[in-house]
Amino acid sequence: MSTITLTEVSRHYASATVLNSVSLTALEAHVLALLGPSGSGKSTILRLIAGLEPLDAGEIRIGEKRVSAPGFTLPAEARRVGMVFQDYALFPHLTAATNVAFGLDRLPRAEREELALRWLDRVGLGKRAHAFPHELSGGEQQRVALARALAPQPRAILLDEPFSGLDPVLRAELRDVTLNAVRETKTTTLFVTHDAEEALMVADRLAILQAGRLLQEAAPRYAYDHPASPEAAAALGPVNMFVGRVQNGAVTTPFGDVAAPGLAEGSNARVVVRAEAIALTPGRNARIADVRPHGANDLVRIEADGVIWDALTPARTQLGERTNAVLQPAGSFVFSAPSP
Ligand code: ADP
Ligand code: MG
Repeated sequence: MSTITLTEVSRHYASATVLNSVSLTALEAHVLALLGPSGSGKSTILRLIAGLEPLDAGEIRIGEKRVSAPGFTLPAEARRVGMVFQDYALFPHLTAATNVAFGLDRLPRAEREELALRWLDRVGLGKRAHAFPHELSGGEQQRVALARALAPQPRAILLDEPFSGLDPVLRAELRDVTLNAVRETKTTTLFVTHDAEEALMVADRLAILQAGRLLQEAAPRYAYDHPASPEAAAALGPVNMFVGRVQNGAVTTPFGDVAAPGLAEGSNARVVVRAEAIALTPGRNARIADVRPHGANDLVRIEADGVIWDALTPARTQLGERTNAVLQPAGSFVFSAPSP
């Protein structure tokens, strides 16, 4: 296992900058989740770490060893980094056990087989060791891919949306299997996902990407509670945005004031309020414009002064009814904004 460090890494294609000076650390034996929408550069980061393509600026180190720099790309085979992608990519003509044994070619045959079986057992697939990929479900194939990636004791493992194709129940199950395996083996892990809940759940550290730039790197709880920007806040869950002016140390929104510590009086500010940070209490400052069940909560649209916000709330309300929206400070943020 090794720490992986990216320092000011950039990657361009013919006309597009896909990664723009990204600096990141995947700490040894920790899980770093990379969260971002489709096209934000997540897979490119993994391909660069794996040595599957060159970078244009910056450097990548695995442990102390520099593996990528402009004009230098240590070949993928020499990096000892395991990978699991969304599309399973098992060898179709090999059994599950032979797929796992494939990367163990330095070991004597008997040991290879034993280790492959042990790994299949570990991911809950001991009974299907001799099945071929086409005889396995999608979730089972991903278990084989995980065992194959971890069996050779890689320095790190790269997981690129490994459960995206699976239904929610299987997905949760496989997420647990995967996290247990990488934690027990203390494998440095980069976990790519576009699902904020999944990222928050799996991450020891969370890196939020947008359009090839890093928006924030932090512990997941910290990122949620202390977003670095409106965009970073929005990446982790539904938010409401409002642009206003700082007066008496706060910005007034149609649903209440939000404190603006550290911002200059009279300056422009962007207010971000998480949908979960709006409590609905008896009162009249807002009107219920829509109500939809959302698990334990209702997703409620509230309206005041012609402005509509979303609230995720355990309160049960009726369409058209008056209510009081109370903005909880813990999920309400103010950022400075340029003058228009
Ligand atoms: P993500 O994994 O976050 O969805 P990617 O890293 O796959 O994003 O891609 C980031 C951007 O780079 C996308 O806009 C994509 O179209 C572009 N891109 C990826 N690979 C290539 C390539 N080989 N040539 C040109 N553009 C590419
Ligand atoms: Mg991708």
